[in-house]
Amino acid sequence: MKYGPGNSGLIMDEPLLWERGKKGRNGMSIPESDVPASPINEDLCGEGPDFPDLSEVEVVRHYTRISQWNFGIDTGMYPLGSCTMKYNPKINEKHAGAAEITAAHPMLDDEYCQGTLRIIYELQNYLAEITGLDCVSVQPAAGAHGELAGMLIFEAYHRSNGQKRTKILMPDTAHGTNPASAALCGYKPVAIKSGARGILDVDQIRELMDDETAGIMITNPNTLGLFEENIREISEIVHKKGGLVYGDGANMNAVMGIADMKRCGVDVLHLNLHKTFSTPHGGGGPGAGPVCVVEKLAKFLPAPRVEFDGVKYTLEAERPESVGRMHCFHGNYGVLVRAFCYILTMGAENLKKATQYAVLNASYIKVKLKGHLHLAYDRPCMHEVVFSDKKQLEFKVTTLDIAKRLMDSGYHPPTIYFPLVVPGAIMIEPTETESLEELDTFIEVVKEIVREAETEPEVLRNAPFRFKVKRLDETQAARKPCLCG
Ligand SMILES: *Cc1c(COP(=O)(O)O)cnc(C)c1O
Repeated sequence: MKYGPGNSGLIMDEPLLWERGKKGRNGMSIPESDVPASPINEDLCGEGPDFPDLSEVEVVRHYTRISQWNFGIDTGMYPLGSCTMKYNPKINEKHAGAAEITAAHPMLDDEYCQGTLRIIYELQNYLAEITGLDCVSVQPAAGAHGELAGMLIFEAYHRSNGQKRTKILMPDTAHGTNPASAALCGYKPVAIKSGARGILDVDQIRELMDDETAGIMITNPNTLGLFEENIREISEIVHKKGGLVYGDGANMNAVMGIADMKRCGVDVLHLNLHKTFSTPHGGGGPGAGPVCVVEKLAKFLPAPRVEFDGVKYTLEAERPESVGRMHCFHGNYGVLVRAFCYILTMGAENLKKATQYAVLNASYIKVKLKGHLHLAYDRPCMHEVVFSDKKQLEFKVTTLDIAKRLMDSGYHPPTIYFPLVVPGAIMIEPTETESLEELDTFIEVVKEIVREAETEPEVLRNAPFRFKVKRLDETQAARKPCLCG
């Protein structure tokens, strides 16, 4: 078996601290007491909890090893599709953690925090430039939160026109958070089936778009990793019926510097700073989902935004038609600082290059693996590529088996069984940060697993082998988490 990265730290088989060590063993030596024990000492040091008795080196090794049980982007390639698990420059962490930033109290008067406000102001402008849209609020704390802000803006816009629209068009290739965000705002999602080419069919939109429909939510590139080619035509149809177009821009790393979302017809779009713009994520850490809009919707943006009159940066005094606050204070400020530093250090040319590499890397994997795994849609892909287990099913090997076997080689599995439109989907997103050599190693490992599926399928069905816990009941794990080991 060929091993990729992280190949030594993932063997989670070792005794608990209580099973290790020996009664009476000590981790430190202190001089013997030269005074008699006092009653108060006895109370404090009497029976007490049953701590394991360990030497110093046993404790150090224990915690060092535990620190290596995690899999992260710093330990190896993490090809989780739709998530953009890429390497983020550590220098941006340093800036976000600088005392000037972290010690600024969010309730300081504007005049005492001009620098921190300026970062927000300039970031608003950069994000507008990158998306092509006119006005930005950086308040939402995640992608789904940005979508919610967007849906509130849809609702406020139609209300300002004296209308109450009830439905929203929802392609089956939209991200799962889209219908949830729409439903949270009281909209009924109307499902749209993607056509044989994996993208939206214009005629279907024309048929379904009516006066009761608030608009459409388009994930572009969609969750199949394909660019919605007809987006301008679709936008025209939706606009003609008085609707708005929402663009899910979570995966801006596929189009940044190349596509202008306003020219595509998008009215509202959110970004995931914790995907494209240098905040490490996974495990639910803090994020930011700025929402960007065209000029006519600017008055509805979450308030307050930061303004600049040429002399002073201020939090705007009022925005009467705003959908309101989406977050306390200034949003997840540390995430904003990382994005700001990332954009400045990259510059326009390199941001565009990041996009080009993200697409090139995914295309490379697509071409190299397409004879080995079934390719759901054999078309030019963007930042991610969707395969399936169709060929391996013949040997009774499934997507889950392939994912588990990849773990034995030190890889985090790709996204599996999503998007739902591809049965047994294996969705791979290498990101722009992996080198050619790293991609080649990954490709070799997948090819070897495919060979194994044909010759020793039972091995795959029992994988992984290098872990203490092997096949978990994944539903139970989510519903009844066991947190005590
Ligand atoms: C990740 C993602 C989201 C959701 O973002 P969160 O920050 O997890 O809420 C929405 N849409 C797309 C296309 C995504 O990839």
